[in-house]
Amino acid sequence: MFTVFIVGTAGSGKTTLVSTFAEWLENNQYDVAIVNLDPAVEYVPYIPDIDIRDVVSARELMRKYKLGPNGSIIAAIDMLAVRAQEIKSQIMDIGANYVLIDTPGQMELFAFRSVGSVLINRLSMDRSAVVFVIDATQAQTPSGYVSSMLLALSTQFRFNMPQVNVLNKIDLLDRSVVDEILEWSEETDLLREALMSNQANKLEADLSVRLSDILTAIGTIPRPIPISAKTGEGLDALYRVLHNVYVGGSDYD
Ligand code: GDP
Ligand code: MG
Repeated sequence: MFTVFIVGTAGSGKTTLVSTFAEWLENNQYDVAIVNLDPAVEYVPYIPDIDIRDVVSARELMRKYKLGPNGSIIAAIDMLAVRAQEIKSQIMDIGANYVLIDTPGQMELFAFRSVGSVLINRLSMDRSAVVFVIDATQAQTPSGYVSSMLLALSTQFRFNMPQVNVLNKIDLLDRSVVDEILEWSEETDLLREALMSNQANKLEADLSVRLSDILTAIGTIPRPIPISAKTGEGLDALYRVLHNVYVGGSDYD
């Protein structure tokens, strides 16, 4: 059983990816189970095998405890962590090869609170990985790229699990723009140059250059895999990388 947590900023395409990747895996003869861990989502395009909204609904918490939208999500995630063992045994009962876990829309309420990693650790099976979804439309500016990579890196530190970064929504960009983003991850000099050409906001340019130097110094961030959760482009590449994680090594290029 391979558990794959799909994490990323709000609107990056986590839910869409869960749906299309599940379909892709099923077309390739895998048994897939889908778990929705987002207590606040209104609509999901897939049929979840386990839906956290059946256990705890953010909407209900809002009403019952007079919480705001963020407060209710936080309360819901805290409640989930307490019931993680129960959820885990439900997942195990399904007995699928692949378990795709959709996580809360606002990643900061989940990934950057300690209860998020508690929940992830409790739900992890013998093999687990995180897929971090980067929104290519956000990452197409040099400073947007740097902040996306920093988020990817902090998620990696936070969960301390094999992590695969994907650059999603490439169908919305010209191929040349996608190629440029991918080049930034390989040629730090190109990124530096692009960052410094931001004449409009010197402070942002300067800060981004410093941050990119940190990213370079850490040097463990592999090139993101370009995909479109909408068209299905690149899902075969994502599968291959995940398969390598599953069979042993967590490195990829
Ligand atoms: P989540 O908040 O991370 O779960 O994001 P969703 O999966 O709900 O997607 C947010 C929006 O982005 C929706 O309108 C999706 O249709 C759209 N979206 C997601 N992936 C893609 C993609 O690869 N291409 C395009 N064009 N839109 C996408
Ligand atoms: Mg979602």
